[in-house]
Amino acid sequence: MTHFVLPAPVQAAVPVEGSSSLFPVRRIYCVGRNYAAHRREMGGDDRDPPFFFMKPADALVPPGASVPYPGATHNLHHEIELVAALGAGGSDIPVDEALDLIWGYAAGVDLTRRDLQAAAKDRAQPWEAAKAFDASAPISAIRPVDRSGHPTGRIALSVNGAVRQEGLISDMIWSLAEVIAQASRLWRLEAGDLIFTGTPEGVGPLIVGDQVEGAIDDVGRVAFRLI
Ligand code: MN
Repeated sequence: MTHFVLPAPVQAAVPVEGSSSLFPVRRIYCVGRNYAAHRREMGGDDRDPPFFFMKPADALVPPGASVPYPGATHNLHHEIELVAALGAGGSDIPVDEALDLIWGYAAGVDLTRRDLQAAAKDRAQPWEAAKAFDASAPISAIRPVDRSGHPTGRIALSVNGAVRQEGLISDMIWSLAEVIAQASRLWRLEAGDLIFTGTPEGVGPLIVGDQVEGAIDDVGRVAFRLI
């Protein structure tokens, strides 16, 4: 048996809805600017292709846990996103086979230090400090695809009961199948990978004490308090 010189890190995982089982997480890919109205509110051009960044798997916040307001920011933003959980992987996957990889779906929030992201953009620096910080990825339980189907409906987020973000999954610029196909040209995808698929318009700041709730039709709800 392998002997590690330190205790091995705990495997990141997300609960499976209606089950005591866990979905083990390998990597978290995230898509930027995948809804036209959000792309415009962030100052982008409609012709820009969507792009990818990543979060570490241990940035996930499980259902029911609170989120500590992170350090080093004065402008923490919410971004509600459909999350696809892959049950199989591959490279150079054709668009018409891409949805076959999906094991299930969750609702996730791509928490963002918007001030650090703006500074990184100004300096042409990477986004990890803005996007990949600890507890930056609250997520719901994963609903298996045989129960969720492939969602196309409403995606929304409210703060203290007031709706801030609202859109339709079907409004994504790049469909989920196209996102998976494109990601698989850049990395070999594997079972256990999550893909955050981008956020609709209405992103905005959170403060300590806020109760955040996101909902996606046919997928579920992600809810947390910021402490
Ligand atoms: Mn996002």
